[in-house]
Amino acid sequence: FLPHLVASMEEVDQTYIMIKPDGVQRGLVGEIISRFERKGFKLTGLKLFQCPKELAEEHYKDLQSKPFFPKLIDYITSGPVVCMAWEGVGVVASARKLIGATNPLNAEPGTIRGDLAVQTGRNVVHGSDSPDNGKREIGLWFKEGELCAWAAVQEPWLVE
Ligand code: GDP
Ligand code: MG
Repeated sequence: FLPHLVASMEEVDQTYIMIKPDGVQRGLVGEIISRFERKGFKLTGLKLFQCPKELAEEHYKDLQSKPFFPKLIDYITSGPVVCMAWEGVGVVASARKLIGATNPLNAEPGTIRGDLAVQTGRNVVHGSDSPDNGKREIGLWFKEGELCAWAAVQEPWLVE
């Protein structure tokens, strides 16, 4: 199986997924992690973390000029978040689909936000919007040594 793993390496992306404070408070951590696990992605980083204001501002710096920015920073720093790095073929785009639209009102049933959230300001989960941002955000939220590269035995049964 080893040549197969090497051949598929270039299609493998990384994404930063974060369960926001409302997801933690509402007891949805297991439920949300399960959805990414069941899909077939590989968890390479995981921690519960109280986010400092500066990090929240850096993470969301593209939204700095938006009127809701101060509320967004208060929300993200209001309690612990669950930080995750996930790896897999097409994981960035696929995770965005599993998460659903930003406004839970527009998120399809079957998606995390469609099933578990009601409002944009409490939409329970974050997912990177591009492979480049996936790498940037994983670098922002995780220190070296906190990530784990490992071979998943199910890999040949997920990728041909
Ligand atoms: P995402 O990539 O789907 O998370 O959406 P964006 O990158 O556009 O926005 C980042 C986060 O900011 C969203 O997930 C929401 O938590 C928050 N947000 C975006 N738009 C609004 C808004 O109009 N009002 C409020 N209160 N929060 C917002
Ligand atoms: Mg975004």
